[in-house]
Amino acid sequence: MQYEIMKKILEKIKEYNKIIIFRHFRPDGDAIGSTMGLREILRASFPEKTVLVLNADMSDYLAFLGGEDEPIADEEYADALAIIVDTGTADRASNKKFTLCREVVKIDHHIDDKPYGDISWVEDFRSSSCEMIVKFYDTFRDELKMTKEAATFLYCGMVTDSGRFHFRSVSGETLRLAGILLDVGIDIDTLYAQLYLRDFDSLKLESYVYEKMQMTESGVAYIYVDRAMQERFGLTQEESSAVVSHLENIRGSLIWIAFIDNKDGSIRVRLRSRFVTVNELASKYHGGGHDCASGATCYSHEEMQALIADAEALHAKYKSENEGWL
Ligand code: AMP
Repeated sequence: MQYEIMKKILEKIKEYNKIIIFRHFRPDGDAIGSTMGLREILRASFPEKTVLVLNADMSDYLAFLGGEDEPIADEEYADALAIIVDTGTADRASNKKFTLCREVVKIDHHIDDKPYGDISWVEDFRSSSCEMIVKFYDTFRDELKMTKEAATFLYCGMVTDSGRFHFRSVSGETLRLAGILLDVGIDIDTLYAQLYLRDFDSLKLESYVYEKMQMTESGVAYIYVDRAMQERFGLTQEESSAVVSHLENIRGSLIWIAFIDNKDGSIRVRLRSRFVTVNELASKYHGGGHDCASGATCYSHEEMQALIADAEALHAKYKSENEGWL
């Protein structure tokens, strides 16, 4: 089944002269890595084809990976094959013009709640979409070419979406596929430095987060990155959102949450956990996502308080009914 779908995708790619690759908005390492990695593989394998990555937003944090392609006129989408990667639902696409393309292929590792696309290859057990692109390459090695640049993009996505290979979704195959990329000769020192070196100002922000964060009775850690805090530290929306990662390593705190004031008055919620599943909680608040990494939106402070109370109840119940958590 998996092979059949991959084969169909390869056949479609061969059929088209123009392929446009898309991803979700507010891109992370996996969204950028998988689209740019796929672009490089296709360009190297089919030099006669036009292969573009076209999206409507970008990430400052990942700017070191280089830019995407220049916009094209709407009518130029019509004869193209769209490949949309790492985008669970069509409404999360950064560039909605993928619908102008003649056919749409979806490649993704999120839960397939609202299927879309003419051909859809979804494997939600995969640690990243990049892992799927490497699997695709590995399956058709005799027809596809991997370059050092492609390997760097894809490794970047595999590393970032798996929490440096420590999330539950990492399998033996994840590491075997990552190994293929390492064999190409990636400059790991530079990639890790680009991804993980910290500016001193961001460390000062981190210390403020620990001062300001709160903890519920059973240990749900949360922080509200309100407008005042964003202004005090001169945070972009992306930097504000990244604050969630500071709460992740607290022993006994199995759920941690960042609430971030959006410009439109709503509050973005980033929910993270270990052991406990939080996506149902996210669904209750206009969101969804993975077992241990979900997103939601609150439209008032009351709703935010209600979410905290629900998280506390879930957390306390989990702790009382389970053993072995840390
Ligand atoms: P985030 O905290 O925004 O990075 O979200 C974590 C994960 O939850 C993402 O990978 C998305 O798959 C998912 N997610 C975030 N927001 C939503 C939403 N509103 N609806 C469904 N899934 C979401």
